[in-house]
Amino acid sequence: MTNNLPPKPLPAITDQTRPFWAAAKQGRFVLQKCSDCGTFNFHPKPWCIECGSRPLAWTAARPHGTVYSHTVSYSVAMNYPGWEVDLPLVLCLIDLDDGARMYAQVTDCQPDDIRIGMRVEVHCEDISAEAGIPKFRPLRTHSTERI
Ligand SMILES: [Zn+2]
Repeated sequence: MTNNLPPKPLPAITDQTRPFWAAAKQGRFVLQKCSDCGTFNFHPKPWCIECGSRPLAWTAARPHGTVYSHTVSYSVAMNYPGWEVDLPLVLCLIDLDDGARMYAQVTDCQPDDIRIGMRVEVHCEDISAEAGIPKFRPLRTHSTERI
């Protein structure tokens, strides 16, 4: 795609976060799961937020969640160039079916249509040679039933 906008800033990938970005590059949604208590953790961290155990295993997570809260951004901060093409941005806190809460963009949804309690599903967008980013979109079945 060509436009006159600067490229979007890329995530600062670390050894701690690389598996998350690399999996999304391949279209897979993974989170760290505690092998002791089973809690899924997000953001990536060296120990479990529930019980403190380490290390955590990168594990395929269910790609569905429920919108906990949302906001719509109609402008881009000066230090975040490149996002103008996506305006307005629908940004949500999403309670994943596997238990973690994630901040993410919801696409394929008009700002007036986003709702607390809306069921959403993950899709991954390719953003660089080594990373993809999970985003969400309204669940196509429009079901409120948990899968
Ligand atoms: Zn744990």
